[in-house]
Amino acid sequence: MELRLIQFFSGFKSSAISLIAFFVAFILISKFQSYWFAKINLIEQVLYGIFAITIMLSGYFNRSRLALAAITLLVFYATLSQALPWQSWVFTHGEWLVLTGAGMLSVLSVIKDRGLLSIHGFYRLVLMMCVGIASYFWFDIADFLVAKFTHIKQLTPWLKYLSVELPLVIFSLLLVWRCVREKSLVTTALLTSYCIWLGQYYQLITLPWSVLLSLMILHYFFAVVVDSYFLAYRDELTTLPSRRALNQLSLSLGRKYTLAMLDIDHFKKFNDTYGHDIGDQVLKLVASKLAQVKGSGKVFRYGGEEFTIVFPGKTTEQAKPALEAVRQAVEDYKIVIRQEQRQTKQARSNKKNSQVKTVSVTISIGLAARSSKLSFDETLKLADQALYRAKKSGRNNVSE
Ligand code: GH3
Ligand code: MG
Ligand code: MG
Repeated sequence: MELRLIQFFSGFKSSAISLIAFFVAFILISKFQSYWFAKINLIEQVLYGIFAITIMLSGYFNRSRLALAAITLLVFYATLSQALPWQSWVFTHGEWLVLTGAGMLSVLSVIKDRGLLSIHGFYRLVLMMCVGIASYFWFDIADFLVAKFTHIKQLTPWLKYLSVELPLVIFSLLLVWRCVREKSLVTTALLTSYCIWLGQYYQLITLPWSVLLSLMILHYFFAVVVDSYFLAYRDELTTLPSRRALNQLSLSLGRKYTLAMLDIDHFKKFNDTYGHDIGDQVLKLVASKLAQVKGSGKVFRYGGEEFTIVFPGKTTEQAKPALEAVRQAVEDYKIVIRQEQRQTKQARSNKKNSQVKTVSVTISIGLAARSSKLSFDETLKLADQALYRAKKSGRNNVSE
């Protein structure tokens, strides 16, 4: 697939899994209401605790957007369930409420995660308030526009959608776009909250708020936990398990295994020719090819343009065909890149001026099996020495 398309959809997989899991949970909760309905009081009591834990955890792990979303929902829930002074105002302004909530969620999907307890956290709180103020004044603007244009007959039927539906469509598009663009469970969690928020407003959902909010906040909780796990054990660029994950695996390996060290050939030259950004994208695509290795090999990004594959319980003879296949797959892989012409502004705006090129890279592989008394690190060193031999003997080959 073309590089740009892959980049465009890079956020889709994790978002899709997360979305499906959320909606399965939602359907189960809707279907089995009789099981939890008697415990609704308990849910209401526990909910404040879930809020507190999730807000603290999100703040601690620098998922400030989720923390802010949770704080907003907490204020909403407190308004709903406690006799707060502004309660009656809020509930007589239902359209303002739906627009403000939806606006906040979509604005959160656009901004970056930055320290909650810092000046940035304060700015973001102010931004949330501005969304509330803006949606308050939006109704005046919409009224003004309606008054101005109702004499145009074709417009009249559409104007009634101006104040609420139009902004909601814009917010929805913004959120979906952010979900596709950003490889993050945070944006997906914001999207599911948004769906629930609108579902309630349009009365498509009839579950109590305490249950819906529990579901939303638990989604935030899992997003923070899973994201933090990925942060620690996954490499950000290639999404392969990182060196830390390799060290973790090394502790659980048995006596028999084979290790392979892989290194992209002449990658420095590749970077010099095409630039570091294209280099990064190629690294990503090569990693995706390596991830398809057969023979129950586990692939890790060791660092830079070097990868490690672990074959638990395998000898070098057993691992070699899988490695040879991977080497061949990378060699045959025609990577399509599009280089923007760095010329005049006019040339840049003309899309036909971007050059489509096909490039390919090769990899060298060194492998070594663990023999008795050798530690994991020593075996890895042997594989590295084998890699050195593979480089020496002309690159693009597998050496023992
Ligand atoms: P050899 O065939 O001997 O491996 O040659 P090489 O140029 O690949 O070897 P070397 O280890 O000297 O260079 C590795 C280069 O890989 C250096 C750096 O430019 C590039 N590189 C390492 N990590 C990254 C990365 O994350 N992104 C990009 N774009 N390039 C990287
Ligand atoms: Mg190297
Ligand atoms: Mg190299």
